[in-house]
Amino acid sequence: LNPVKENSKTYKHFNNLTCMENTLVLVKPEGVKRHLIGKIIQRFEDAGLKIIGMKQVWVDNEFSKQHYSEHVGKAFYESLEKYITEGPVIAIVLQGVNAVENVRKVVGESEPKSSPPGTIRGDFAHMSFQHADSKGNPLKNLIHASGNLEEAKKEISLWFKDYELHSYKTMQDYFLE
Ligand code: ADP
Ligand code: MG
Repeated sequence: LNPVKENSKTYKHFNNLTCMENTLVLVKPEGVKRHLIGKIIQRFEDAGLKIIGMKQVWVDNEFSKQHYSEHVGKAFYESLEKYITEGPVIAIVLQGVNAVENVRKVVGESEPKSSPPGTIRGDFAHMSFQHADSKGNPLKNLIHASGNLEEAKKEISLWFKDYELHSYKTMQDYFLE
């Protein structure tokens, strides 16, 4: 039995009816440097989302352009690239029911100022678009989360190989069956 093969096979075999989804989260360099990795991951575990892949990666400018391809050319892109490449990030693949939408709910709005208490961006940051743009800075918001299912699929295949994603049971699965 090849566990790598077995796992990637299980991972790929969601049928069309299921609401089970995988999504990508990054703890950005700011979150790593502020020692917030544990607190951020706790929020997702508390919500019952399953970690099926996780690693620390320090990306270069080229990789940033691939990950943020939709933003390349925008006024803030240069500062965003500098931000995401300034230190290592924690890359995580989370799995759960409507995981893309549920993770964005836990994360909050793009702008920490507009993110309500209880969200990661609302509780651990307070930066506004206006302040960031007035300084020519990136909007420091601690975390990246895929915006929709299509983006999630593209981003997961960019950041992870199939064999880095794992299929296993957690306590939460007993409530989902
Ligand atoms: P999200 O991360 O919520 O999906 P976007 O995809 O719109 O947000 O933007 C990607 C990242 O680019 C944001 O998380 C933020 O760090 C940065 N960013 C977005 N808009 C601005 C802006 N107007 N000024 C500075 N940085 C920005
Ligand atoms: Mg986005």
